[in-house]
Amino acid sequence: MSGARGSAAPPPLEVDAHGWVSGARRLPSPNFEARPPGAVPSLVVVHNISLPPDVFGGPEIADLFLNRLDCDAHPYFDAHLRGVRVSAHFVIHRDGALEQFVSCDERAWHAGASNFFGRERCNDFSIGIELEGSDTTPFEAAQYATLAALVTALAKRYPVQALAGHSDIAPGRKTDPGPHFDWPRLQRDTQLDDARFPYRHPADDARDAS
Ligand SMILES: [Zn+2]
Repeated sequence: MSGARGSAAPPPLEVDAHGWVSGARRLPSPNFEARPPGAVPSLVVVHNISLPPDVFGGPEIADLFLNRLDCDAHPYFDAHLRGVRVSAHFVIHRDGALEQFVSCDERAWHAGASNFFGRERCNDFSIGIELEGSDTTPFEAAQYATLAALVTALAKRYPVQALAGHSDIAPGRKTDPGPHFDWPRLQRDTQLDDARFPYRHPADDARDAS
């Protein structure tokens, strides 16, 4: 949807003194812990998630992060999610609605075994953002708009040095945010410099050189 009469750009997002974002619906998850001493959020990790896979719009993502997902409700849940304790800091729904589950000051459980240019345990020093989506479906304009506003707010508040996909820091194990995620669009919308997209430019360089 666009061009609705009277629509206006949403106000910019801000991170409060406790690591919670204004404008996000707060759904505090118990799945977090303190960051290690001295660790600050310097990496933003972009994911996709849909539960069940490729089904959008239900409450299941929040239910998973709040440890209340009914694992008898779907064979996928039964096979993969029973007893799983995970969280991300943020979820951006298909309509752009933003939910926050963990304070950015705390360590959420989104990346699992991971490695950012030799630095392991990316959850220690990252903020995880889940886009409701899948590897097979383009994301919505409203999701990019919210993501750009969120990343801009995070980069103002924290020393964000890089953005990466889950697949970048857990290659071979994870594929999200998937082939439809438009990194150049995110960079354009946030106006962050090339250095903060360390996984994106080798391919561009190769293409330009060919
Ligand atoms: Zn992921």
